[in-house]
Amino acid sequence: MQRGKHSFEHYAESFEIDCDVAILGAGAGGCAAACVLAEAGLKVAVFEEGRHWKNTDFKPSNPWAFKNLYQERGTRIALGNGWLPVNGGKGVGGSTLINSAISFKTPQPIVRDWRERVGFDPDGRFLEHVEHVWETIQVGKNPPQVQGNNNHVFKRGAEALGWKAEFLDRSAPGCTGCGVCQLGCPSGGKNSVDKTYLALALRHDVGVYADCKATGVVKEGQRVLAITGRTLDPDSQEPVGHWTVRADRFLVSGGPIGSPRFLMANGLAPNGHCGLHLHLHPASAVYALFHERIEHWRGVSQGTYVDRWDEGYLLQTATVTPDNNFLGLTAQLGPEANAFMAQLQHMAIAGAIIHDEDTVGRVTQDGIFFEFGDQDRQILLKGLRACAQLYFAAGAHTVLPSVVGAGLLTSPDQIEAAIPLDTPFTRMIAVASHPMGTCRMGDDRQRSVVDPRGRVWGWDNLFVADASTFPTSLGVNPQVTVMAMGRLVAEGMAATG
Ligand SMILES: Cc1cc2nc3c(=O)[nH]c(=O)nc-3n(C[C@H](O)[C@H](O)[C@H](O)COP(=O)(O)OP(=O)(O)OC[C@H]3O[C@@H](n4cnc5c(N)ncnc54)[C@H](O)[C@@H]3O)c2cc1C
Repeated sequence: MQRGKHSFEHYAESFEIDCDVAILGAGAGGCAAACVLAEAGLKVAVFEEGRHWKNTDFKPSNPWAFKNLYQERGTRIALGNGWLPVNGGKGVGGSTLINSAISFKTPQPIVRDWRERVGFDPDGRFLEHVEHVWETIQVGKNPPQVQGNNNHVFKRGAEALGWKAEFLDRSAPGCTGCGVCQLGCPSGGKNSVDKTYLALALRHDVGVYADCKATGVVKEGQRVLAITGRTLDPDSQEPVGHWTVRADRFLVSGGPIGSPRFLMANGLAPNGHCGLHLHLHPASAVYALFHERIEHWRGVSQGTYVDRWDEGYLLQTATVTPDNNFLGLTAQLGPEANAFMAQLQHMAIAGAIIHDEDTVGRVTQDGIFFEFGDQDRQILLKGLRACAQLYFAAGAHTVLPSVVGAGLLTSPDQIEAAIPLDTPFTRMIAVASHPMGTCRMGDDRQRSVVDPRGRVWGWDNLFVADASTFPTSLGVNPQVTVMAMGRLVAEGMAATG
């Protein structure tokens, strides 16, 4: 194995690597784990199906970003009693390449619940890992001058209602407020995990192999001997060559969709739970028009929030590019939508994101499926109502919720009738960027995929560390928890040998 970064241009048609630990997937979980394992003196090889990127490569264009940085070129969708785009990143850095850098420590009630429910965190060190992540990715609040009006009017509305609104903690210490986090950070101000944990790991004996998709395994008894895969042409995504990695220990960190698919495809988790228990944190937006100029694209993309965790949701600002803005509107196509878009400079955007509890989802090789629960649907609708209320309190003259048929609201009295709690999910426009739970951790081998140390039940040397291992829905933006999970599992792996 050669230390450093490797990519498609330099691969032979077929190559083989020997190392101590092989990691599949260079996202939040995989990179945080790589750092722990490398610092423990192990020789680590990381394989990632996407590319290595520099911030100067990124273009503020949806077609470019979807093609290069998004799983399934931005078309990944869950189907069920409605439809739900399920975003995910691809590339060295994983979804942190395209996330908004929002950072929450794992909520204490969740840590307690996981400990009681499944024996999570057997060494009692998880909260130390969370603190380590917080420091390493340099979480802090961006100053008011880079927040932009979209965040300021939202704060003003919340405060008018007596609700506590705060600037979000973010892992973007150099944020310049250019508003395109989800297309790759062009300024380098965001600390995606390739810049933090992976950069630290690369000071040690680590090789990072981009454009390499893991597909197969060689196993013997209860041990995995090798993982095999294909090199991908980064432009066409066509498989071109072959690779094999032999290691003492293997870590699957392909994310909440990639990891269960890899395990299922190779018969590695046959108890029927792999791919189940999908949670999604569905989110939906509200658009508001003001007399003042907002220019939502200037400033921190997602900078402010109102904490309604006790009620099952958070309100958070958001910004999108105008083309996405248009596609997400529920205004009638034609004059109504055109008139709304003509006022783009005066438009503010925020939304509700829920802590899903009664939604049932699953990942298979063929798709992602879900049944949006009644309770969750109503909580999301209540979040949209709260967001509309907030915007009227901030001085909006028109509000458009993402509910088909709700129409343009001009007064807060119209909110309840426009957003009835029995609205079917088919009339709601929502998106999910936080899938989790599909290789859930547990202490009962019949009802979970990995044990409390992240080891796949039935295997001596196969582990999973990413958002798929969450035992339940988290309720807050997950990147910090995913990285802390990566550290927790890697510490256990480093101790086995
Ligand atoms: C648009 C968007 C915005 C978000 N905003 C925020 C935010 O502001 N704050 C927050 O906390 N969270 C946010 N998230 C969520 C957060 O980024 C993810 O929860 C987190 O990155 C998940 O980490 P992971 O390790 O599970 O997977 P990922 O970070 O997704 O990494 C998985 C990696 O594995 C690779 N992979 C998959 N299968 C294979 C295979 N077979 N072989 C090789 N490689 C493979 C993938 O290409 C990917 O790079 C956002 C997510 C998205 C999509």
